[in-house]
Amino acid sequence: MNPFESFHYQVDRAAALRPFSEDFLRAIQMPMREINQMISVTMDDGSVREFNVYRVQHNNWRGPFKGGIRYHAQVDIDEVRALAAWMTMKTAVVGIPMGGGKGGVTMDPKTLLPRERDAITLAWAKVMKPFIGPTIDVPAPDVNTNSHDMDIIAEEFGHPAVITGKSIEHGGSLGRDTATAMGGWFVFEALRPTFGLDEHATLALQGFGNAGANFATLAFEHGLKVVAVSDSSGGVYNSEGLDIPALSAHKKATGKVQDFSGATNITNEELLEVKCDVLVPAALEGQITKNNAERIQAKVVLELANGPTNPEADDILFARNIMVVPDILTNAGGVTVSYFEWEQNMKNERWTAEDVHTKLKETMESAAKEIADRKAKYNTDFRRAAFLLALERLEAAMPKTA
Ligand code: NAD
Repeated sequence: MNPFESFHYQVDRAAALRPFSEDFLRAIQMPMREINQMISVTMDDGSVREFNVYRVQHNNWRGPFKGGIRYHAQVDIDEVRALAAWMTMKTAVVGIPMGGGKGGVTMDPKTLLPRERDAITLAWAKVMKPFIGPTIDVPAPDVNTNSHDMDIIAEEFGHPAVITGKSIEHGGSLGRDTATAMGGWFVFEALRPTFGLDEHATLALQGFGNAGANFATLAFEHGLKVVAVSDSSGGVYNSEGLDIPALSAHKKATGKVQDFSGATNITNEELLEVKCDVLVPAALEGQITKNNAERIQAKVVLELANGPTNPEADDILFARNIMVVPDILTNAGGVTVSYFEWEQNMKNERWTAEDVHTKLKETMESAAKEIADRKAKYNTDFRRAAFLLALERLEAAMPKTA
């Protein structure tokens, strides 16, 4: 199953819980528009290279398309489609007036020099110019993109509200850099009574970037024992818990988490299977599959990444009583604060970090409660309950002429 097929499957399973019209379900399974184009960029050595650039605009019934831009060698149209569709579900789950979209470039950013990367970002913006705008489609950062890239795109369009995740100096919001992790933390805290975990619960985390490293820091600061962490070069393990600030400094100095003193090196496969209470995938999709789901030892999987659990694995985890808190809830803090940034730009306002924090907490707790209520009402899992909430809100917003 590719990621977009997983999305279809997830919608079908949630839609089986109560009746929805066929027209509605057909519309929600299809992206509204896809831009898929080749760009040519001159490298610093004078050679010319081609890159595929994408934007998928999945649905805008509830507001402008919204979703990040990913730079990765594995980006393809199925992945961007799925990520765009999950954004539609996510904005509906947290009840912000935005739709779903996603963009990307197929490339390995590690192989590019800074000017070459900026040229690709600018070329992406030029291709997308007719299709992007503050009330049309508002992109943001995702894997391997950052506030510097967002600033380049905002400058090209000449309006800060065209994109979120910008630097503070260029109209970014306080709290956006840690929003995904903070939102995930609020969800974890809100649902913790359901999990039956105390404050000394152990945690393993895959991916040590924006989402993962900030979440590890929050967990560490709140007294959880983070026993394992990984990045794309592999992982580290210590059953007594890792010193996350020291590990962050080590990653900053060496570029990887491995070879950290006082910890054992492990592979990414081993990380997923270590003994822990909470497993937090915070890297890429398709990490928990039918091949390793039987060996997951965690009691709870908190999906900070998008699409980390394949549907077949979902069934295995459900049968084993392992609770999976789905991506469309867990990582929705990022898009929520992105929406706050857009709102500040549109109204020419500057909110304090405290304002952002309070509004984010309210939004995440309210979404978690709505989902927990549906989980209980339909005697189902968190993912189906979350998709159900999103489908209900989307059905209510479906134009009469769609
Ligand atoms: P990032 O680029 O900052 O970090 C990604 C991390 O994953 C890096 O540490 C990288 O080394 C690691 N990684 C890559 N491949 C890996 C592998 N095979 N095994 C282990 N680690 C691997 O990206 P991010 O923004 O933190 O995004 C991570 C996930 O969170 C993605 O699924 C993304 O879509 C999702 N997400 C991010 C945000 C956000 O605001 N940043 C919002 C919502 C969802």
